[in-house]
Amino acid sequence: MKVTDHIAQAKDTLVSFEVLPPLKGKTIQSIYDHLDPLMEFKPSFINVTYHRSETMFKKKADGTFERVEVRKRPGTVAICAAIKNHYNIDTVPHLICGGFSKRVTEDALIDLNFLGIDNVLVLRGDAAKNETNFEPEPDGHAYAVDLLKQVVDLKNGIYQEEDIKNGGKPDFCIGTAGYPEKHFEAPNLQTDLLHLKSKVDSGADYIMTQMFFDNNKFYQFVKDCRAIGIDVPIIPGLKPLTNKKQLTILPKIFHVDIPADLSDAVMKAKTDQDVEQIGTEWLVQQSKELKAFGVPVLHYYTLGKPKVIYNTVKEIR
Ligand code: FAD
Repeated sequence: MKVTDHIAQAKDTLVSFEVLPPLKGKTIQSIYDHLDPLMEFKPSFINVTYHRSETMFKKKADGTFERVEVRKRPGTVAICAAIKNHYNIDTVPHLICGGFSKRVTEDALIDLNFLGIDNVLVLRGDAAKNETNFEPEPDGHAYAVDLLKQVVDLKNGIYQEEDIKNGGKPDFCIGTAGYPEKHFEAPNLQTDLLHLKSKVDSGADYIMTQMFFDNNKFYQFVKDCRAIGIDVPIIPGLKPLTNKKQLTILPKIFHVDIPADLSDAVMKAKTDQDVEQIGTEWLVQQSKELKAFGVPVLHYYTLGKPKVIYNTVKEIR
């Protein structure tokens, strides 16, 4: 079932979770171990992130270096199928432009359709680790909106293989990313919002946001979206703060602000356990307020912290 159908049929705020594919070498059981306790909350869907390959240089026996492409977290499509099969629950694979040609993307979409997965979250992806700026593949997409248009084309039976006539029309529900605090490359929030609008106008069915720790930023973002005619559901993405290092890492990597009340409390904490407690209480409060605001879904980035998410959702159900 599509994310938008879950939202349309909901009687209360829904809950969903997001997982990373396990590192190469680990088994699918590690994902089940992560998700098992969370199933108590009957999530409407589970997202699985996508991670592009990285260029690495491996030393050979003769002392020279060999350039190799390594995917540390492979398997997004297969993990979505496995979760769907194991728990009988809807899954949302993330699809990115980075590292993909249009034809490889098309094949991934066909695989998803064959597997009965009818949701995708369409993203651009970040620059590769060895690049300063995002570089599209020679036959790939430069922006999420272009990838989104490819998915919409496929929904209309338009394939990259131009000689396919009367092909199947896989009916995907398409999600797109939004940034309450602005995407870091955008010159300003207004420009970023206009790019977001063009994704919605091109066929995105809902928006899922970057994490934020100050709900006022989200409320303003929703207001700004509505003001420029974006009327699709907006799902807040939520992440717990669980250690002191995140006070610098999260702003650096995700370009989000940590409110002073939260950072002060974390700085004063004596143990990691105390920080986790503060982070959980903050997330519970955020969740309760967002629920009261009327968000359709509370989407939690579980990212290695299923216990914190468990304690949070338990508190608000
Ligand atoms: P875009 O919408 O393409 O925007 C990128 C930048 O370009 C923005 O600054 C935007 O304002 C600008 N822009 C957009 N369109 C145009 C245009 N036509 N002309 C000029 N400028 C334009 N990354 C992963 O690698 N894997 C994941 O699984 C993943 N999941 C994510 C899930 C969520 C909910 C979010 C919020 C992010 C996720 N990311 C993931 C990170 C994401 O890939 C990065 O934030 C990336 O830098 C931008 O992706 P986007 O889809 O927002 O890009």
